[in-house]
Amino acid sequence: MDLVAYTRAAPHRGETVSGREFRTVPGGKGTNQAIAAARAGGAVAMIGAVGDDDLGPRLRAALEGAGVDTAALRTVHGPSGIAHIVVDDDGGNSIVVVPGANGTVTGLAPGDEERIAAADALLMQLELPMEGVLAGARAARARGVRTVLTPAPAQPLPDELLALTDLLVPNEHEAAALTGHHVPRRAAVAFLDLVPEVVITLGEAGSLYAARGVEPFTVPALPVRAVDTTAAGDTFVGALSVAAGEGRPMADAMAWAAAAAAHAVQRPGASSSMPTREEIDTLHT
Ligand code: ATP
Repeated sequence: MDLVAYTRAAPHRGETVSGREFRTVPGGKGTNQAIAAARAGGAVAMIGAVGDDDLGPRLRAALEGAGVDTAALRTVHGPSGIAHIVVDDDGGNSIVVVPGANGTVTGLAPGDEERIAAADALLMQLELPMEGVLAGARAARARGVRTVLTPAPAQPLPDELLALTDLLVPNEHEAAALTGHHVPRRAAVAFLDLVPEVVITLGEAGSLYAARGVEPFTVPALPVRAVDTTAAGDTFVGALSVAAGEGRPMADAMAWAAAAAAHAVQRPGASSSMPTREEIDTLHT
């Protein structure tokens, strides 16, 4: 759950400031990607955990409201995962993430492996403990299910996780942090030593695709007036995975995902701004 306080300027240490607005918004990269994929028309199941506090039911309801299957979302004793966010008037933010229940997902539960086996793709993010992510990736690979990794929050990636990843989708900052290359095309080529396919998202400059044996290409973003880019990347990954799972060629899937993200950035909010399949089709020409 994102706990967001809006204030003129973030407080310094020891200082108390008045805020203008406070919102609790269901979030987290896993939840955002699950909701984005479900609204884009995918059949989505979420593996993870919420706490037995009052945030847990709200998080579960947000997923279910978007049509996500939450049978594999455990409720554990203790607090739900939160991001405590202060947004200032310049749009800058400072964030404290407390994993809470997410920190308990260190492996698969009974039934998770079958759920993964039945899927076209497993979408992974790094807001769960690495052992949990690895357990999912191993199960997917063993059953021949495509793995899609968003390497965020940015951190060094274990060799095993890279070896189990079919498609890596970093943003340009994560790509630079992971490869040391600040030019996206260089970073993309460097990633191909580690994974077979990569899409680097470039904000309003679109996205860049590279795969072994293929000339890298860029797909533009849509020229829209962005009011809130929160979760643009998660919307993009969710829609991209749905389109790719339907067998659409990568360039087309990326353009469709760009339309989904363009829709999301024109509305405030994260999961609440994610478009339906019909809305994406309207923007995708
Ligand atoms: P976030 O952390 O905010 O979720 P991100 O950094 O992971 O985002 P970005 O690279 O900023 O991801 O954006 C993902 C995609 O969203 C881009 O490839 C692009 O298609 C779309 N997008 C982002 N910003 C804009 C914008 N200002 N206008 C149009 N499309 C955008």
